Amino acid sequence: MKALQYRTIGAAPEVVTVPDPEPGPGQVLLKVTAAGVCHSDIAVMSWPAENFPYDLPLTLGHEGVGTVAALGAGVTGVQEGDSVAVYGPWGCGTCVKCAEGKENYCLRAAELGIHPPGLGAPGAMAEYLLVDDPRHLVPLDGLDPVAAVPLTDAGLTPYHAIKRALPRLVPGATAVVIGTGGLGHVAIQLLRALTSARVIALDVSEDKLRLARQVGAHDTVLSDARAAQAVRDLTGGIGAEAVFDFVGADPTVRTAGAVAAVEGEVAIIGIGGGSLPVGFGHLPFEVSVNSPYWGSRSELSEVLALARSGAVSVHTETFTLDEAPLAYERLHAGTINGRAVILPNG
Ligand code: NAD
Ligand code: ZN
Ligand code: ZN
Repeated sequence: MKALQYRTIGAAPEVVTVPDPEPGPGQVLLKVTAAGVCHSDIAVMSWPAENFPYDLPLTLGHEGVGTVAALGAGVTGVQEGDSVAVYGPWGCGTCVKCAEGKENYCLRAAELGIHPPGLGAPGAMAEYLLVDDPRHLVPLDGLDPVAAVPLTDAGLTPYHAIKRALPRLVPGATAVVIGTGGLGHVAIQLLRALTSARVIALDVSEDKLRLARQVGAHDTVLSDARAAQAVRDLTGGIGAEAVFDFVGADPTVRTAGAVAAVEGEVAIIGIGGGSLPVGFGHLPFEVSVNSPYWGSRSELSEVLALARSGAVSVHTETFTLDEAPLAYERLHAGTINGRAVILPNG
C-alpha cells in the first residue's frame, strides 16, 4: 500500500510503498477514508536526531477515520464495513487513568512502548491503518468522514481544555483563543456551543481572523505586542476568565498571562516551547495555568455528538496522498485555513 512517511531527520515526508498490514489477534484493520494534518507533525519533523523519540521511518497521521476492512482473531463489537473514528492517544487500557477513559494520561504507555498512530505507531496517512484495540474506535454514525476526522484531535483537544474551564465561563465571562488555525477555529465553535461567554480571537493574519469571525468569534485582535492591552480594553480592564493558547510560544504565553482575569485560567495547548512564570507579581491573583494533552475516550464521543447536532463544522481543504507533502508545506507556511485533510484512498 501507499503511505506518507517521515524517513530522514530534517527531510520532507515522502510517499512510499510499504507492505499491506494484517490484523493480529485483537487488532482491527481500517481502510482509511480521511486523515487530518496537524501542526504537531511539523514540530515532530523539526526535532533533532539526538532526542528524536520514535523509530524511523514513521507513517504520519494521528487523526484518522476509516471503514473496518478486517478483524483480527477474537475481535468483537465492530463489524466489517463500519465507519469509525480512531481515538488516537492509546494507553494500556488498565491503569487507573485508562480506567477513567483518560488514555491520553495513561500511566504505563511509555514503559510499555505504546504510542499513538502517527506519533510512534504507523499512522493514518496510508491506505490502511492497524488499530490496536476496538475500544479505540468510535462509530461515525452518519458524520461525514472528511468533516469528522479533525474532530479526533483538532476537536477533542480544545474540547478537553474548554470542558475543564466551563465553571469559569459563566454568562458575562470572556474567553480568549490565541491561534485560530486547525484547533483554534474549532475551539471558537465549541465555546459558542457550550457557553455564553464572549469570545475574543487572536491571530497574526487577517485571513485567519476572518475565519474566526465567520465561525463565531465576537471580536478579533491582531496578535502583536499591543494585543494584551486591546483585550483588556475590550473587557473593561477585567481580562479573560479563560485563555486558550493554541500557539504556546513565548510571545503568546506572555499575552495569555497578561490577559488573564483574577481567578482566571490559562491553558497552554500549543507546543511552541514557551513558558509562563507563575508566582506573586507574575500573574493576577489565583490564576491557574495548565498544559493539557489531547482528551479522553468519552470526550471524543461527546465531540462527535456535538458535531452531529450541527454545532461544530470544521473548515477543511482536501488533498490526495500524493499531495500530502504539499499540505505540510502549506501548513508550515500558514496558508491552510481550517484543517487540511488527506484522502489516502481518494
Ligand atoms: P495551525 O497551524 O492549524 O494553527 C496555528 C495558528 O496559530 C495559525 O492560524 C497561525 O496563524 C497562528 N499563529 C501563529 N503564530 C501566532 C501568534 N504569535 N499569535 C497568534 N496566532 C499565531 O496548528 P494546529 O494544528 O491548530 O495546532 C496548534 C498547536 O497546538 C500546535 O502547536 C500543535 O502542535 C499543538 N497541538 C497540541 C495538542 C495537545 O494535545 N496539547 C494537540 C494538537 C495540537
Ligand atoms: Zn495533533
Ligand atoms: Zn493506562
